Amino acid sequence: PAQDAAGTRGVSLELSGLHRSFGATHALAGFDLALAPGELVAMLGPSGCGKTTALRIVAGFDRPDLGAVSLDGVDLTPLPANKRDMGMVFQSYSLFPHLTAGQNVGYGPRLRKVSAAERDRQAEELLELVGMAGMAGRYPHQLSGGQQQRVALARALAVRPKVLLLDEPLSALDAKVRLQLRDEIRRIQQEFGITTLFVTHDQEEALSMADRVAVMRAGKLEQCAAPAELYDRPATAFVAQFVGTMNHLPGQVVGAAKVRVADRELPVDGACPAEGTEVNVLLRPESLDLEPAAEASAAGRPGEGQVMLATFLGATTRLTVRLGDGTEAKADLPSHRAVEFPVGSAVRLAPAPRPVLVVERG
Ligand code: ATP
Repeated sequence: PAQDAAGTRGVSLELSGLHRSFGATHALAGFDLALAPGELVAMLGPSGCGKTTALRIVAGFDRPDLGAVSLDGVDLTPLPANKRDMGMVFQSYSLFPHLTAGQNVGYGPRLRKVSAAERDRQAEELLELVGMAGMAGRYPHQLSGGQQQRVALARALAVRPKVLLLDEPLSALDAKVRLQLRDEIRRIQQEFGITTLFVTHDQEEALSMADRVAVMRAGKLEQCAAPAELYDRPATAFVAQFVGTMNHLPGQVVGAAKVRVADRELPVDGACPAEGTEVNVLLRPESLDLEPAAEASAAGRPGEGQVMLATFLGATTRLTVRLGDGTEAKADLPSHRAVEFPVGSAVRLAPAPRPVLVVERG
């Protein structure tokens, strides 16, 4: 039925060399991104990096100063929004308040001269798909926020779009509904095999939903990769710091691609400054183990400090350690081991012997 409702097969979507300026602001400064048919790509990046601008250009609500958007190799740039075969869901509930859920879903098909009977049939089917069976007669004000977004999704799918564009569709919802809808959107997107571009500022959302995550910075693509690769092998220090929790521990380059941190020597991954340079070593909390330290030395030696806080996270506990120089480090330990290091105890950081990224301090 899903195939019938959408009649879709994934298309490839390509954004190439997009530039867009507003006065002196370069919202997009040469942005490239390519989505494979049926792929869900999440655009992630700090506020103002150009995510919404890129999405609006794909939708046809805005035009690039330079560059092109194409579907299966066909340039869309000359086409207005209503000729682009795209479905869109926005952050704020954008349903027509004076139309029922069913009429909202049937709105696009009505513009396309689909018969009333066919529209009703299709609306029922799509509302069922999004978990809203039997609610076609309700008005938006009779629906919760999560239900309204479900209807908005059904409405976006009703025009049999080739591409689905989602602009922070979950950010106005409370946490529980957000998690539910996350899974639902992903399920429906995969069922339809619909190529989807998703804007979010929530990295957990991006990492949990997307086939690939496009990290943007200042109007450009910084890295686009599968969530695990982005997390484990960030291409740049920016991505490393932006995605997931990251410790910045003081260290010193002690040789070719070798850094000393917390009294250990670790191999450096990627760019490494000259020997002797003071750097910050980037370490994930799960790459940091702890060992007991002697009370007396806790303040002095590199990599030693005191447990300030223990945050129980279930299987793991995050221990926040304050080092002698004031730096704070977070270490995630299996909860049964974390109890060995109560708040106030003296500890030594024990980084896992794996390659690390470093950035120059200064
Ligand atoms: P956020 O996560 O805060 O929504 P974003 O990554 O979506 O940010 P954009 O909304 O694309 O960022 O904006 C990129 C830059 O372009 C920002 O500096 C913004 O102020 C600017 N900008 C966007 N639209 C306009 C506009 N219509 N007029 C002037 N400046 C704009």
